Amino acid sequence: IDYLRLSVTDLCNYRCQYCMPADGVEKGPHGAVLSVEEYGEIARAAVKLGIRKIRLTGGEPLVRRGILDVCRTLRAIPELKELCLTTNGSLLPKLAKPLQEAGVDRLNISLDTLRTERFREITRRGNLEDAFAGIRAAEDAGFQNLKLDTVLMGGVNDDEIAEIAALAKDGAFDVRFIELMPIGFGTTMKRVSTDDILTVLRERWPDLAETDEKRGNGPAHYYKSGLLKGRIGFIDAVSHKFCSECNRVRLTSTGMLKPCLCYSDTTDLRALIRFECTDAELKSALESAVYLKPRAHCFDDGAQITEQHIMSQIGG
Ligand code: SAM
Ligand code: SF4
Repeated sequence: IDYLRLSVTDLCNYRCQYCMPADGVEKGPHGAVLSVEEYGEIARAAVKLGIRKIRLTGGEPLVRRGILDVCRTLRAIPELKELCLTTNGSLLPKLAKPLQEAGVDRLNISLDTLRTERFREITRRGNLEDAFAGIRAAEDAGFQNLKLDTVLMGGVNDDEIAEIAALAKDGAFDVRFIELMPIGFGTTMKRVSTDDILTVLRERWPDLAETDEKRGNGPAHYYKSGLLKGRIGFIDAVSHKFCSECNRVRLTSTGMLKPCLCYSDTTDLRALIRFECTDAELKSALESAVYLKPRAHCFDDGAQITEQHIMSQIGG
């Protein structure tokens, strides 16, 4: 387990249909969310145990006050190999350069549609133009190998598969299709299978073939075509279980360490560090949580899913 997804806030400036209720989530009590120093303390302990990559997520990580301080604090950990961040992109015009200067190595940007009105319908608040301005700002700031992540929903945006994939044409981006997960509002929408997506893509790029190239250290598998300089990736946790290769744990913004997305089990690291635990106690709590990682997720059997939180509270 060398990858920690670290949520820095539950809050977001969007309200994506599959992720958040239309009126957002209630702001927690003051002090519920970890401070910059607390993120640093947990991250240092995790890195001592072998974590080498941290991805900041949320909610929308860029709405968190002090996000640059979080980045600088984590970047100062010498053994940390990669600091990444997943964003809806809307605040990148202001923050892309400062993020790069604060030590963020890679960005993933979520983009579910290329149609203005649909973008507003899916995100309920966002503007497509802002997303594109964010993508351009990330490129201008020098971020390379940007990944654009799309969640397809049957009957909502699954008529745009080829258009979205075509963004990989010039090689500036990899485009990845993230399978809708039955968490929170994801339970109410229709998943689009990788096989169905591939069928559509092969009408346009008949030579599309799976490649075993590594494009990161996550669970995505990739396809290439001679007509696309970038790659098309799939993160299909539900239909292609990759649990045996799972290399990650998650930390919510309130300091709950989650070994697996679909179960509610957590270890309360916030309580531990606020009660001034020793380094050895924090290490032992982290180790126990990792050893408690279940053999596999249970997304194929809804009755077993114990996670009750919505995705913006878990961090995706
Ligand atoms: N706000 C940032 C963003 O949208 O990129 C980061 C947080 S968001 C929770 C992280 C990722 O989770 C996004 O790519 C989003 O599309 C994805 N996501 C949210 N709910 C999902 C669901 N039910 N199934 C699959 N992916 C989901
Ligand atoms: Fe916000 Fe990201 Fe969830 Fe959309 S997917 S509501 S941008 S946290």
